[in-house]
Amino acid sequence: MWCWQGSTFPCSKEEMELSRRDFLKIGLGLGFFIPLRPAVGLPVEGPGEEAIPTFCSLCPASCGVMGVLKGRKLIRIEGNPLSPTNRGAICARGIAAANQVYDPERLLYPLRRVGRRGEGKWRRISWDEAFWEISRRLKEGGEVLFDVGEREPLLGRFANAIGAGVIDREGLRERNLLEAHRIFWDDGIGRVDIRRVRSLFLFGANPLEGGGRFPEVARRLMERRREIRVITFDPRSSFTASRSDEWHPIRPGTDAALALAMA
Ligand code: SF4
Repeated sequence: MWCWQGSTFPCSKEEMELSRRDFLKIGLGLGFFIPLRPAVGLPVEGPGEEAIPTFCSLCPASCGVMGVLKGRKLIRIEGNPLSPTNRGAICARGIAAANQVYDPERLLYPLRRVGRRGEGKWRRISWDEAFWEISRRLKEGGEVLFDVGEREPLLGRFANAIGAGVIDREGLRERNLLEAHRIFWDDGIGRVDIRRVRSLFLFGANPLEGGGRFPEVARRLMERRREIRVITFDPRSSFTASRSDEWHPIRPGTDAALALAMA
């Protein structure tokens, strides 16, 4: 039995060897659907094209993708079939990411509004001017405190530069998690070994739809779906909750009380 609030799974060699056909068969047979375009092999490089491996940062899944360049221009994004996370599958948002790069409304430099709000009149200013102006106006409001996470190192540096206080929310959350795992298992962060799980308790986790590396996690869950009893505690009927053996719509914020009552 495992209780899970959003951890990730390790990846073994045997699991890596599941074929795309097996993957689709399991997924379709159980009625699961991940809205990712299936892998179609390595991108075919046309004349003058070059495929560069990288990853998509548009959601926490961090799918492996290939950016296909023609000269210095990004012409499309495809899934990377060698990525253990998504094995070449990619969603519509990831495919459309190439449009972001050349979006005519993409901000490339700071602008100062010079007209009335909504009038659409702007003047280009330098980065130094923008930082000075922002810090001056922030300080005018009194003491400044930034709520930053580990993924915003630049915001943390900016806060330090203007003498603002910083709350590291991510760090606090991670420390709580580490302490909980130390108390229960006398170890660091535990990992769900999905190959041996028979009952999976999900507290607010929605691994079929989102979260870190969710395509990989969802695939592993689907592979053993008929053997695992999935019980979800979530106020919301999430995609995962609606496909669980049991869904308990508890009141928001009562997860800990429920877990204590079950212990
Ligand atoms: S699921 Fe889509 S948006 Fe998220 S990382 Fe993968 S390709 Fe990008």
